[in-house]
Amino acid sequence: MHTWMTRLKELYPEMVEWRRHMHQYPELSYQEKNTTHYVAEKLKEWNIPYRFGTGGSGIIADITSDNTGPTIALRADMDALPITEESDFEFRSQHEGIMHACGHDAHTATLLGIAKLLNENKANLPYHVRLLFQHAEELPPGGAISLIKDGALDGVDVIYGVHIWTPLEVGKVSSAPGELMAAADEFKIKVMGKGGHGAMPHQTIDSTLIGAQLTVQLQSIVSRNINPLDPAVVTVGSLQAGTAFNVIADTCEMQGTVRTFSEDTRQFIRQRIMMMTEHTCASFDAKHELDYIMGYPAVVNDEKEAARFFDVANNMFDKEHVSLSEPVMGAEDFAYYLKEVPGCFMFVGAANTKKGYVYPHHHPKFRIDEECMFNAAMLFLAMMDDYVAEK
Ligand code: MN
Repeated sequence: MHTWMTRLKELYPEMVEWRRHMHQYPELSYQEKNTTHYVAEKLKEWNIPYRFGTGGSGIIADITSDNTGPTIALRADMDALPITEESDFEFRSQHEGIMHACGHDAHTATLLGIAKLLNENKANLPYHVRLLFQHAEELPPGGAISLIKDGALDGVDVIYGVHIWTPLEVGKVSSAPGELMAAADEFKIKVMGKGGHGAMPHQTIDSTLIGAQLTVQLQSIVSRNINPLDPAVVTVGSLQAGTAFNVIADTCEMQGTVRTFSEDTRQFIRQRIMMMTEHTCASFDAKHELDYIMGYPAVVNDEKEAARFFDVANNMFDKEHVSLSEPVMGAEDFAYYLKEVPGCFMFVGAANTKKGYVYPHHHPKFRIDEECMFNAAMLFLAMMDDYVAEK
């Protein structure tokens, strides 16, 4: 561990440079062409064998030791968001309307640092390393599914992932056994009534009234049908109908999101929404279309690997800087890897209150204390060492 730290300190300025480069040239989900190329060039330079995923998306690379040992996968995501950055930094986004506002640039730079470090020592490693540079985390169906189909997890014994995290101060880390992040599903409902004159409602089927009624109905699912100790959210985020004050709208379009942790609750809410939509619309004699899109499942950490996180983190960081994470309602497609192999997803503090780096993820002023990359890399290395020591 000690040798890792010495070398990692030397590599750290390069990690910062890579991260700032990627920060300047962010790319949206499924369009990470230059970022993918940037990563591939580095791997090529270091003679690390790699291949692209289907359609050139994502990279699967291997550092194969001369020793026999388990294969440990580490994952970084590479995509940015459709947000205009508000920043005075020299390395602020040069792509108008696109920004690394979730820190995936830091994830990728961290994994590159680890790749360079471990590759220098590959002959002596007690494990093999699978490096996953994943595209399209931000936009379902997400890059994880396709990378898994491309063989990302073939032969993999365990997987680790981190998210740098501004709700936590730099130097702090957290995670949890079991459910860590929510499943995120989406629904679109189109209520089809019958338009007409605002003064002659009896000749119409008022889609605005039905949409409003249904919005209220849907709010009874979590409050009346779900165990209060089981976290769930149903949000109608968009409700659009009508064009004029004296015209009854023939259609009303609704969109919303559902967040859950347990798979049973997730399926139950889906059934409830379908049933309520059908019956509410029918009771007004309206027709409807419902599009229910299942997004990412919940991120569920392996109990044993989460315990490893707490052992390792308590050794590495001050004890008061290691915490049990509350369930986070946000979603992550790391969930798909954890459905296939055991592993752990971990939050690594990235805020710096003194410097004013306190903005939440996906905010135009999102910024990080780059030291989080060093901490994330050390955490990855310590998790791997501990995994092998136990075997
Ligand atoms: Mn993210």
